[in-house]
Amino acid sequence: MSNELLGIGMTSQRSRNRLVDRLREMGIASEIVLETIRNTPRHIFVDEALATRAYDNTALPIGHNQTISQPYIVARMIEALLEGKVPATVLEIGTGCGYQTAILARLVNKVYTLERIDALLNRARDNFIRLGYTNIRTKHTDGNLGWPEYSPFEGIIVSAAPNEIPEKLLEQLAPGGRLVIPVGRSGEQELLTIVREERGFSEKRLDWVSFVPMLEGLG
Ligand code: SAH
Repeated sequence: MSNELLGIGMTSQRSRNRLVDRLREMGIASEIVLETIRNTPRHIFVDEALATRAYDNTALPIGHNQTISQPYIVARMIEALLEGKVPATVLEIGTGCGYQTAILARLVNKVYTLERIDALLNRARDNFIRLGYTNIRTKHTDGNLGWPEYSPFEGIIVSAAPNEIPEKLLEQLAPGGRLVIPVGRSGEQELLTIVREERGFSEKRLDWVSFVPMLEGLG
């Protein structure tokens, strides 16, 4: 790996190890998730001016009024998505700068990711190429629609909060598949895991959370 990807000083392996220790203290137990966070260079996904804060456990601005999610939340959601069995195919809504996508792509066979803001998606695509990912497919679209052509998905993970679970996402979930999604208005959002059972869906509440709203149409 090049020195730039490995990081130096505040973006070094030591900073990443500290972040992983913190996530473990906060209750993340999945070793495979912690290991993947340890090995994924988050500083590549934020502006150079913010790189020294890349391994803080906080959300950071990525422009267009959006943020890169807090590492704890990324870890918590992926841990919930992988519970039971690792899904082969995952649909992600809200690519943003692509940090969570990159982590998913190290854990599952194929990631399909949707983003409504073209400029962010282009930046994410550049990041994927730079880091050498070949198992990520991207699309500029409203994530409320899902991606019917590649459905059903064994896992769906949503990085922005709708007021209600989009019907299309439930439809595109494979039998036994899991959907991890924050739902609700600002200030009262809950992170949910929905599992497609033989008949209908089961629902589990994970945490109170704070996500940007899931908007309609293109940005
Ligand atoms: N997964 C990102 C989080 C980005 S923030 C990370 O790793 O940090 C959430 C993203 O969801 C924003 O980029 C926002 O533009 C996007 N978003 C909001 N509503 C959307 C919609 N309806 N369809 C697709 N993307 C949406």
